[in-house]
Amino acid sequence: MTKPEPVVVVHGGAGDLASADDRRQYLEGVRGALEAGRAALAEGAEAAVLAAVSYMESETIMNAGRGAALAADGSAALDAGFMDGSNRRYGGVTGVRRCLHPVQIAARLAREGDFGRLVGPPDADSLADEFGLPHCEPEALVTERTRRLHAERVALTTPQGAPFLDTVGAVALDADGKIAAAVSTGGMSLKRPGRIGDSPVVGGGFWADDEVGACVTTGVGEVLMRQGTARRCVQLVADGASPEDAAARALDELLDHPGDQRGVSGLIFVDRHGRVVLDHNSREMSGGWVRASGELKSTHLWRPS
Ligand code: ASP
Repeated sequence: MTKPEPVVVVHGGAGDLASADDRRQYLEGVRGALEAGRAALAEGAEAAVLAAVSYMESETIMNAGRGAALAADGSAALDAGFMDGSNRRYGGVTGVRRCLHPVQIAARLAREGDFGRLVGPPDADSLADEFGLPHCEPEALVTERTRRLHAERVALTTPQGAPFLDTVGAVALDADGKIAAAVSTGGMSLKRPGRIGDSPVVGGGFWADDEVGACVTTGVGEVLMRQGTARRCVQLVADGASPEDAAARALDELLDHPGDQRGVSGLIFVDRHGRVVLDHNSREMSGGWVRASGELKSTHLWRPS
């Protein structure tokens, strides 16, 4: 049987974008991340997802790293996760304020111990030092744009107000059949201090298993965690569903319960055969994929309301 061609899949978040210019910038960010991921693909799936997500953390338009959505107190507090599908080790960090690349802390945590670790503040920040990753001042994660959006959103928010989303993620399959998943976010805009979303939580925000595939989610973390959406999608494929049906079902299940209209979410998926899905029930989602040959597709998905 011929081996599937290595591939990297990324998304730049599900939600509701403000303007055509935002959409253009998101697409540029997605393309840059795909190129960074492809350049690292020869080093393996882990290197590819880390390169893609690190690129989006450095981009200022996306909700991750510099330019991440601000919490209720006006600061950036970052969450990230990583999973290695060859041994199912995972890492998660939450509330990172002094490191531009929390995804790299998460990946290092995945290598620790038998299972990996999930770490919150203040240790999440200290780990960046321990692992020799560059740290930054908290203000370096805040941009003029995120400050302005924060002020607008504070003024807009009502108790029923729509959540402001986005997050970035990547999954990859390499030439050795290894699979990895990585995710990074500022979390939901205006989140309360101490709130932890799905992105650092294994099973909810990300899942990778070389035997089946990998999935990364974006959307309302509270619902994604409850449903274990990333693992659910991979499990449905393991049970025989097509990747498209698994993705659609995992997303539909987010809307199963009264009051779940807030489950405006999306996901990306790759399986061990190199089959790729990007799906969402949000109004918009940006994402794409690139194969080792260079064949690249970046897209802005749109669902009319
Ligand atoms: N899932 C993220 C969270 O709940 C937000 C997002 O995907 O945009 O923190």
